[in-house]
Amino acid sequence: MKRNANILQIENLGIHFDTFEGTARVLDGVSLELAPGDTLGVVGETGCGKSITSKAVLGLLPVPPTKIVSGRILFQGEDLLDKSEKEIGKIRGTRIAMIFQDPMTYLNPVFSIEKQMVDVIVRHGRQRGEPVTRKQARTQAVDLLDAVQIPSPADRIREYPHEFSGGMRQRVLIAMALSGKPDLLIADEPTTALDVTIQAQILRLLKDLVNRFNLSILLISHDLGVVAKLCRRIAVMYAGNVVETATIAQVFDQPAHPYTQGLLASIPRLSRRVDSLEGIKGSIPSFIDPPGGCRFNPRCGHAMSVCRKEKPLLEETSPGHRTACFLYKSSWPNT
Ligand code: SF4
Repeated sequence: MKRNANILQIENLGIHFDTFEGTARVLDGVSLELAPGDTLGVVGETGCGKSITSKAVLGLLPVPPTKIVSGRILFQGEDLLDKSEKEIGKIRGTRIAMIFQDPMTYLNPVFSIEKQMVDVIVRHGRQRGEPVTRKQARTQAVDLLDAVQIPSPADRIREYPHEFSGGMRQRVLIAMALSGKPDLLIADEPTTALDVTIQAQILRLLKDLVNRFNLSILLISHDLGVVAKLCRRIAVMYAGNVVETATIAQVFDQPAHPYTQGLLASIPRLSRRVDSLEGIKGSIPSFIDPPGGCRFNPRCGHAMSVCRKEKPLLEETSPGHRTACFLYKSSWPNT
């Protein structure tokens, strides 16, 4: 089988939703890449297409109303869009795992942590063709709870979700995600429901697990600060497009795209005294009737006539730094 250097490579992914009002073009040719052992944060306002992208990787979007209209999702060189539901089901939870924003939604309140973890470990063992007994699964569950720094794991495993705090429940979900021995962990707003102290602890834990378990992480977040704490690279999304991708340092030191500049200007900083924070004027456009050309043009202070007619491609503006903006092009298409 032909291997790809990236563990995950999304190429020109286009996704439409059929709605009563018309077709919503929610992803407009998204391309992303994640190297083995690397950490990539996908940021943008709510509704920019981050979670749709991550759910597409795991085949979690309902068809219909979802239509994949273009692109490929290569995971370890295999196109996930070519897989049957059964084949994707074998990959989900084992080779690729996901953790979500609200752990309580994904833990069953009427079963102990022990039962839920043992069930998951036994199922993952079957999926991987490495069956384990319930006794072996319990031992693994205790080890995993220890790995995510739950104190006295052999005792606490007998408790129920309501006996755990929000941060501890998120640790349990991370332990469950690790139980399938995944190569890729997708974390969708994993700290949004937590207070800042617990948020920092969970991010430190994830960082530690990347090294210990040789994981690659795709982190979805609306918060640039959260992404900066965990990730090496960042992809900024706006209205179904990736508009900038670079290392964290490049984006924070020299943000190139006007949307990224606006996001950074809206973050409060202790080093900067201001009367009020700058926001980005306007809101995300309709996906049913999006603006022509660059979808950011109605909100952009630099918009030119070409921006309303042509879509800028994501192109390298400096080594390792790509931006989709006509400000960085020496020549434009004839318009
Ligand atoms: Fe602004 Fe034009 Fe760049 Fe879009 S392409 S961000 S409208 S300058």
